[in-house]
Amino acid sequence: AKAALHHYRDLQPRTRDGRAIEVVANLGALNEIPLARDAGAMGVGLFRTELLFMQQRTLPTEDEQAAVYRQLAEAFHPYPVIIRTLDIGGDKPVAGIDFPREENPFLGWRGVRMCLDRPEIFKPQLRALLRAATVGNVRVMIPMISELEEVRRVRALITQCEAELRAEGTACAAFELGIMVETPAAVLQADALAAEVAFFSIGTNDLTQYVMATDRANARIASLYRTEHPAVMTAIEMTCHAAQRAGIWVGVCGEAASNLDLLPRFIEMGVTELSMSPAAILAAKKRICEL
Ligand code: PEP
Ligand code: MG
Repeated sequence: AKAALHHYRDLQPRTRDGRAIEVVANLGALNEIPLARDAGAMGVGLFRTELLFMQQRTLPTEDEQAAVYRQLAEAFHPYPVIIRTLDIGGDKPVAGIDFPREENPFLGWRGVRMCLDRPEIFKPQLRALLRAATVGNVRVMIPMISELEEVRRVRALITQCEAELRAEGTACAAFELGIMVETPAAVLQADALAAEVAFFSIGTNDLTQYVMATDRANARIASLYRTEHPAVMTAIEMTCHAAQRAGIWVGVCGEAASNLDLLPRFIEMGVTELSMSPAAILAAKKRICEL
């Protein structure tokens, strides 16, 4: 079976009616690159930058971050790599960021909310991304978006960072900016959001948690935590339709992207990119080719 799956490694998967689907990897560290390449990843759909911040006793510097993002981009060039800006909250402490105690950290000061309040943390990351973008295949996405104003404020910060880099004479390049759709608020405003970004990536892990009001890590209520629940599937479909109306592409980067029963439904809704852990890639490619 392993040899049969290997056949799909270097193959661009297409459904039998000819739809090409990008199958890409979710990664959290550079040492996972060989695994993803061996599995036939056609790029990276989600690079979680949290680990970079959690591993050290101090915040990673702009230079350190630029080196990591550049290495990632070079390893997959010319395939695209989508790097997600810092998505962290009070549930995962980071040395160098002072998180308050919160009753509900998953509904709290996290992800883009924290980053926008802490430009001294966020700007070095944006500057590092602009510098790495000279490789040519870097895309950036913002997690936990719940209103349009957040996208606009991030874009304004990027513009400011780019102007500063150019004034300093530091090499940098623009990148495509997308957002994660993982809150019900983003789904309900998907038309307005789609008009302002280059792509959507649906984070089914959090979207399931927030649509179902069900903690993704609480075993007691795990039976309610179902991405295949009609409420969640409707939210995903609404997001896909909004993307189509605006003419932008939409991907899925939560665990459900590699669910062999759900991925046909995502493709039917218009999803063209599926991002998953490297171990799931070959089986997903095979499944797509059989559809
Ligand atoms: C998600 O929420 O689906 C997602 C991909 O992001 P994370 O699991 O890192 O929250
Ligand atoms: Mg998430």
